[in-house]
Amino acid sequence: MLLTLSTTHSPATELGYLLHKNPARPQSFELPFGLAHVFYPEAHAECTTAALLLEVDPVALVRGRHGPAGEGGALAQYVNDRPYVASSFMSVALARLFGSAMAGRSKERPELVEQALPLTARLSVLPCRGGEAFLRRLFEPLGYTVTATQHPLDETVPEWGNSRYFTVTVEARTRVSELLTHLYVLMPVLDDDKHYWVGDEEVEKLVRHGEGWLAAHPERELIARRYLRHQRSLAREALERLVGDEAAEPEERERVRNEEEAALESRLSLNEQRLQTVVDVLKECGAARVVDLGCGEGKLLKALMKERQFTDILGMDVSFRSLEIAKERLDFDRLPELQRRRLGLLHGSLMYRDKRLSGYEAATVIEVVEHLDPPRLAAFERVLFECARPNVVVLTTPNAEYNVRFESLPAGTFRHRDHRFEWTRAEFEAWARGLCTRFGYSVRFQPVGPLDAEVGAPTQLAVFSR
Ligand code: SAH
Repeated sequence: MLLTLSTTHSPATELGYLLHKNPARPQSFELPFGLAHVFYPEAHAECTTAALLLEVDPVALVRGRHGPAGEGGALAQYVNDRPYVASSFMSVALARLFGSAMAGRSKERPELVEQALPLTARLSVLPCRGGEAFLRRLFEPLGYTVTATQHPLDETVPEWGNSRYFTVTVEARTRVSELLTHLYVLMPVLDDDKHYWVGDEEVEKLVRHGEGWLAAHPERELIARRYLRHQRSLAREALERLVGDEAAEPEERERVRNEEEAALESRLSLNEQRLQTVVDVLKECGAARVVDLGCGEGKLLKALMKERQFTDILGMDVSFRSLEIAKERLDFDRLPELQRRRLGLLHGSLMYRDKRLSGYEAATVIEVVEHLDPPRLAAFERVLFECARPNVVVLTTPNAEYNVRFESLPAGTFRHRDHRFEWTRAEFEAWARGLCTRFGYSVRFQPVGPLDAEVGAPTQLAVFSR
């Protein structure tokens, strides 16, 4: 993983004083997770570039770690993207190698520290959860010009589509300390991961490094939440300290990932209408055993638990965190034994065949397909309609045509930042009919929410039966 920092400030070689690293002398540093090298690929008066090359050693990461192998098993501990991408490891390296520069200290050039210089940072591989749009939303409000090139998942298999990895350049006239600090905070935010435990100390760091820019950043809440690994109480604390009470309104505090979409749709109380419609359809078809795929935080599961018809209810999601929240919301650990036996929660992915999903009469897939990468839809179809093969599938997804009726939604954007696509009615129906032909199901469609003569209803629902 390579990070370069260039300036055309004249004389550009002064960058060496700001970074406290001599352009004439390459240096290597040992870090707990590997080696970092600092060198200057070019150092002349017109342009100077400093490079930080980080070699993360996957074996060093695992060494000394005890306990269960973790989510991906032992293999994932050794074989993963960490050595190749900019992540919290790079942030730690920045702080260790350029700590004085980040803090804005330079004995030799104290006046230059305060000066905005023409700077360009280039990250060879930056994972961007939320894609290029999110990358821009993070850097552009800070005054950077962003250039991003997205990389395919595998260039020999173009149909797999794009990966979440980008080569990114950010350019601005700014102070070296600011640029380094922005990178330090925003790299793990884009990656949406950290290699170490996040606690109170991280709040301190965010407050310290966010000083002077984070409070006014339009994405400050998401930045805080991701930086603190979605620990809402920590994010709230950091924001309160950064912005005071203004951002600490109760509803602001409680916002989670899905809440922007919920807010958009709330005027219609669309969520309740959607859940009620799904429950009604399930009751009508007489199913007793129901699996909710991509159950999220368990809203539908909760509604299903209230109906005695459903004797066997399983929620499945790829997000462990969501399942934990679902467990809490459903009061799982405090349910009476008989009730608890009706309910199961399963950590799994719709991308892989899973025997545990067979034997259910009905499956629900509520506002989930639009979160899947289009090239992966075929895998999902087979997992559900070929392998699990329930009698009935109830599936909902946004109707893209209705978006023009949401006044606060800018034209051409999705309702939720994680949506990979949103279908028009014709697109959804064509997809649904296609899979019926392939897997031997029939389908009927039903609008959910207020029906608009021109653009239809906000949610589209399909009931597949075999
Ligand atoms: N059905 C819920 C949640 C919708 S949000 C509701 O209506 O409230 C979409 C959910 O799909 C998220 O919880 C996300 O974690 C889950 N999801 C996304 N990709 C998935 C996959 N491949 N397998 C299982 N769940 C997935």
